[in-house]
Amino acid sequence: MACKVNKNSFLGFGICFLEFYKMAYRKFKADQLFDGYKLHGPDTVLITDENGKVLDLVKSSEAGDNVQAFEGIISPGLINCHCHLELSHLKNVIPPHTGLINFLCSVVTKRDFAPEIIHQEIMKAEKEMVDNGIVAVGDIGNTADTIELKSKSKIRWHNFVEVISFTDEKAEENIEHYKNVLKQLKNTQHSTINIQRSSLVPHAPYSISPKTFRLINELTNNQIISIHNQEHPDEDELYKTGGGDYLKLFKIFGINKSPFPVTGKSSIRSVLPFFNNGQTIFLIHNTFMPEEDVVFAKEYAKENGLTLILCLCVNANLYIENKVPPIEIFIKYNCPIVLGTDSYSSNWQLSIAKEMGAIKNHFPSLSSETILQWATRNGAKALQWDDELGSFEKGKRPGVVLLKNDLSESKRIL
Ligand SMILES: [Zn+2]
Repeated sequence: MACKVNKNSFLGFGICFLEFYKMAYRKFKADQLFDGYKLHGPDTVLITDENGKVLDLVKSSEAGDNVQAFEGIISPGLINCHCHLELSHLKNVIPPHTGLINFLCSVVTKRDFAPEIIHQEIMKAEKEMVDNGIVAVGDIGNTADTIELKSKSKIRWHNFVEVISFTDEKAEENIEHYKNVLKQLKNTQHSTINIQRSSLVPHAPYSISPKTFRLINELTNNQIISIHNQEHPDEDELYKTGGGDYLKLFKIFGINKSPFPVTGKSSIRSVLPFFNNGQTIFLIHNTFMPEEDVVFAKEYAKENGLTLILCLCVNANLYIENKVPPIEIFIKYNCPIVLGTDSYSSNWQLSIAKEMGAIKNHFPSLSSETILQWATRNGAKALQWDDELGSFEKGKRPGVVLLKNDLSESKRIL
């Protein structure tokens, strides 16, 4: 708004300055306000500047006028720690409840879509996440199909370039291929519009040979990486005996017996020891992770300088196996927990609110405060973006989201 300043009047300048500053404030309150740590009641007002930079949290009586009041919960922007944006075209392609191994066989055989369709669905999925208040994503990709969109996106992206490499013989060739994908992504990271970071990651214990694991460990010093973990009981079977239903998946790739060593141990006990290079490792899913493996993983990480994060994608587990992970065990051992949506191949939507709602339904004794921490501050910290995201602390710019009181829906309001 234009403002005439009387150059000779200090008072005139002062009033004008205040007037301008008032215009630049945004003030929000709701039934509850979650600040990244705890829930406040309806008497707490969030004040930001017009770009969403947090200025203060104050009592209503100190907030002045122009406070926007909402029904529901005001929260910092949501963090999606596990997605595969490039699989968005598989929405409604694979039916629910097929079981993981049939699901994987479908994913690897149904990737042959026209590039325009792939691009169009990636765009729709990104818009959905922007609108429902997701501000940062840990995004898996085997290709560079999402580069163009990410370079213009309002979301921050950590690109996990996912390596699939079944045999030691092909390990170096495969790693070279994925290093090229990584290079392509890194070349677009200098955009001033958004922030991106990229790292090479192993797909899963059932798709990475020992030599490939060793190469990835060398190439990811102090980086954030991820691995799908114990999403099906036969993953343990594969390492314990060399048998189980994963052999069906290998057949599609022309491999007739398990290419992995039989260790007599569970998959996580067999593969976590490949890592000792200061990484932060997101263990994704953990649907069939028994208590003794949680204890093992925590101890191994502590002794070897790793940071382990458990990433839950509950709707994807319900979609594929109709099973939820043993969250009580993860809480019992104080594991850092974050949330992800996984991809449209195994979810009805890409919404962290829907993940929170599903957790609340299956674990009604968990408090909303705890689940909200996983969806905001924990995710921001795990992705090492908590300097700006995850909580309403002065100077941060975490985004402002409105959630339904039962956590089942969300929309971005700033
Ligand atoms: Zn996944």
